[in-house]
Amino acid sequence: MISLALLLWAQTLVTPTPPPSLTAFQWNKVEISQLEEIDDDVRRNVSQPAYFDAIEVREIRVTENGFTWHLLRFSLVADKIGPLWLVPHDDENAAFDAMIAALKERGGVGIAVNSGPGSLRMQSGAGVCGVRFGVLPTCDPNRNFDPQAPKFTEAIVNQRSAGQPIIALHTNSPGFSGDGHGGRGDITIVDQAGYRQGVTAPRADGLLAVSPTQTMANFDTLGLTAYLAKEGRPSLSAQDCGSKIANSGVHFWHERVAKSDGSMSNYLILHRPEILYFNAESRAEIDLAVAAARHKVMIDAYLEHCISGDKPAP
Ligand SMILES: [Zn+2]
Repeated sequence: MISLALLLWAQTLVTPTPPPSLTAFQWNKVEISQLEEIDDDVRRNVSQPAYFDAIEVREIRVTENGFTWHLLRFSLVADKIGPLWLVPHDDENAAFDAMIAALKERGGVGIAVNSGPGSLRMQSGAGVCGVRFGVLPTCDPNRNFDPQAPKFTEAIVNQRSAGQPIIALHTNSPGFSGDGHGGRGDITIVDQAGYRQGVTAPRADGLLAVSPTQTMANFDTLGLTAYLAKEGRPSLSAQDCGSKIANSGVHFWHERVAKSDGSMSNYLILHRPEILYFNAESRAEIDLAVAAARHKVMIDAYLEHCISGDKPAP
């Protein structure tokens, strides 16, 4: 006869290890005034009336693999359940502003990586950066989401409320290298080789926006979700989500993932596919409000068309 102890032991073998609890990471409360010197995003916005009112800020420093990360966590004092908003790149200022706006409108938790007192993209240090090889002097936060960087990754991912999506906000430099117009963006909705030949067509797994407004019509502004290359195509629900977003006037790309590049989209689809994820890329603008307004259009489209069940409150 199998003993109870043996049954319990066997159960531990099939029960996945739970992520570290919320208390595993010490997020300390911090006053806005303490952050002005050390974070450009706070400094830029702090003089606006009531900008940080009703928002609680916490911080944590995570040291791992030769890099010390400073993460800022924003939530409403009223503590309203909502998505986990993520701004990994400190130099993408409109994304930060869009995150605060989304937090005020929909609740949830916003996390921004503060890579230094200025508007810096990379974290300085000396160590192993996510999926990259060798010891490096700087690390791109959005290449450091990986089982090899579990403290950094979990500190962020475990701030998500059950059933809520993670929504990452980025800005995207205009164009792309080799587009013939001096472009330097990372990502575009058009097929780059075709574009260089004068043909404008969506990239593989991309959907051009249907009747976009003028502000959404540029090729550097797009929403994306990821799917696994080994599955051949996005799931039916992801296809439905993508076509509805494109039909609502937003360029959409199903990002095909074979091997992780260390980004949040790649990490989640490979290691935590149960977590819903959306990435909004808005073309960078001198006027931050113009780029941030596009983030809101993309967030609204995603939450309206792609979330069911535990739908975040409007
Ligand atoms: Zn970015």
